Amino acid sequence: MKRRHFLGVLGGGSLAGLLPGLAAARPKLDLSRAEGLEVLKLSEAEWRERLSDKQFEILREGGTEPAFSSPLDKETREGEYRCAGCDLLLFTSDMKYDSGTGWPSFFDHVEGHLLTERDFVLLIPRTEYHCARCGGHQGHVFDDGPEPTGLRWCNNGLALTFVPA
Ligand SMILES: [Zn+2]
Repeated sequence: MKRRHFLGVLGGGSLAGLLPGLAAARPKLDLSRAEGLEVLKLSEAEWRERLSDKQFEILREGGTEPAFSSPLDKETREGEYRCAGCDLLLFTSDMKYDSGTGWPSFFDHVEGHLLTERDFVLLIPRTEYHCARCGGHQGHVFDDGPEPTGLRWCNNGLALTFVPA
């Protein structure tokens, strides 16, 4: 009963609410690669062949797409968000919310499938995150997200492939 009430407060019914591991204490930025996940290494030519120019700029060069440019920002269907570079599952629709920033935003991620790194591109330290399999740059994570994690995974839509359920 107590547990049910707790989940209700958090907006129960979401995947994150149902899997105890995903609702672990914050901050969750001490990340490590999922066990057994093999790293994918391709040459620049191979990446160019696999990705569009814009995708290459984001995934391989750490670029950022303009706000409100991705149709995935307003995507509300149930489904999976996979790395556009290697198809690794990074987020599910249960983890998504509308942050109002103009980029697809998630309050949680599939553990072991993202790794973080500090960057200083805008002089202010930010936490960049990338796919744990192919190293593709996905976006930046901030601590102004909603409960239960308090995190906002701010992702480039072009770095993701959405697969409707
Ligand atoms: Zn990837």
